[in-house]
Amino acid sequence: MALLTKAPKGTQDFLPPDTFDWQTIEKVLREEAIIHGFGEIRTPVFEHTELFQRSVGETTDVVQKEMYTFTDKGDRSVTLRPEGTAGAARAMLEHALYNEGFPIRLFYFTSCYRYEKPQAGRYREFHQFGVEMFGAQDPIADAQVICLAKSIFDRLGVKNLSLQINSIGCPTCRAKFQDALRTYFASHHSQLCETCLGRLERNPRRILDCKSPVCSEIAKGAPHILDYLCDDCREHFDGLKQYLDAAGVEYTVNPTIVRGLDYYTNTVFEFVSNDLGAQGTVCGGGRYNGLIEELGGKPTPGLGFGLGMERLMLLLKAQNIELPAHPHCELFIASMGPKALMRAFEITRELQKCSVMAECDVCGRSLKAQMKYADKIGAGYTMVLGDDELESGVAVLKNMKTKEQVKIRLDEDISTQFAAITAAAEDLSF
Ligand code: ATP
Ligand code: MG
Repeated sequence: MALLTKAPKGTQDFLPPDTFDWQTIEKVLREEAIIHGFGEIRTPVFEHTELFQRSVGETTDVVQKEMYTFTDKGDRSVTLRPEGTAGAARAMLEHALYNEGFPIRLFYFTSCYRYEKPQAGRYREFHQFGVEMFGAQDPIADAQVICLAKSIFDRLGVKNLSLQINSIGCPTCRAKFQDALRTYFASHHSQLCETCLGRLERNPRRILDCKSPVCSEIAKGAPHILDYLCDDCREHFDGLKQYLDAAGVEYTVNPTIVRGLDYYTNTVFEFVSNDLGAQGTVCGGGRYNGLIEELGGKPTPGLGFGLGMERLMLLLKAQNIELPAHPHCELFIASMGPKALMRAFEITRELQKCSVMAECDVCGRSLKAQMKYADKIGAGYTMVLGDDELESGVAVLKNMKTKEQVKIRLDEDISTQFAAITAAAEDLSF
C-alpha cells in the first residue's frame, strides 16, 4: 500500500500555498525572458533516446548513468528529457525556425528526469527554467544571455551569487588540450575511479567533472584549457569579458568549469551560491556551436542556460527572501437554510465573475462552523444570509479585521457595492 501513498524516490509534490511562490517566481522569469526578446517553447516530456545520446553526449554521466530510458509499446526507445536544450534544438530544426532569420530566442519551463542519488537540491524529477539562443556567434550574445540570468537574480533579490566563467574552446584547440589531459591523468591512472579510467581514452575532459573526491582532487592539478585556446577562441573569451565589464556584471574566471554536457564549446558559466551546501550551482550554461550540426542541421551557433527551479527556491528560503503572500478569501458568505444557501451560491458566482475571491459553504456546515471556517481561511469580510436578510433584501457585511459593519443591498449590484466598501476600508487604513 505504501506504493500508493508515497511519491517515487527523488520526486516531490508541490502543494499550496508553496505553489503560489512558484507562480510568483515563474512570473518574474517569464517577464525577464520576454523583456530580453525570448519567446516560450514547449516540447514533449519524452524524445527519441538517440536525440540525447547525440546531443548530451555518449560519454557524459547523464547519458551513461542517469537517463530514464524505456521501450514503448511500438518498440521505440524513448527517454524522459534529462535537460531542455536538446528538445529545443530539435524543435528549432523540425519547424525550420531558422527560415525566419536569426537570432532565434527561446525560453522554457520544463520538468527534467535524471536517475541520480537524491539529496538536498538533487532530485530525480526536477524543474528548469531555460533559455536558448540560436544563430549568434558574437560574444555579445553570450554576454546578453548571462545578463538575463543576472537580471533574474537581481530582481529576485538573491545575494552572494558568484558568476564563474570559462572557455572550453573549439574542437581544434580542444584536441591539444585533450592530449595534455590524457597525459596528465594517465600519470595518476592507478588512483582514478573506474568510470574515469574509461573516460581516459574516450573523453578525458569528463574526468574534470567527476564528483568522486579522489578524482576531483587529482583534477585540481590538471592542465587548464585556457592555456590551449586558439586565437579565435581567446578573442571570443576576451570579447565576452569586455561586454560583461561594460554591463557592470562581476565574474570570476574559473578554468576548472567544464559542464556536464558534451555539447558545449567556448563559453561555459555557472552561477554558484555558498548557501546551498554541496549543490551550489543554481544556473549553468554556455555555448554549443557544434550541436545543431550534430543533429543534422546546417552549422549554427547556439547558446543558453538551465536554471534549477528547486535550487532557486531553496536559495530564496535560505536567504529569507520574502515573497508575496498567497491571496486569501475576500468574502465568505455564510448561510442558514437551503434558500439562503442558493442565494449565497448565486452571489458567490456573481462576485467570482468580477474577480472577487468569494466563497460560500460547500460542506453543509452549521452557521457556527461556517464562521469558524471563515476565520481559518482568513476571509477579509463575512456576510450572513438567513430568512430575515432574504426578506428585507439587506445583509450586513462585516470587516473581519476592524469588525466594522456595513449594510449591503441584495437586490442591487453586489460587486459594485463590495468594491466601494473595500476601497473605502483601504483609504481609511492609510
Ligand atoms: P550538477 O553539477 O549540480 O549535477 P549539472 O551540471 O548536471 O549540475 P545542468 O545539466 O547544467 O546541471 O542543469 C542546469 C541546472 O539544473 C543546474 O545548475 C541545477 O540548478 C539544476 N539541476 C541539475 N540537476 C539537478 C537535479 N538532479 N536536481 C535538481 N536540480 C538539478
Ligand atoms: Mg549533474
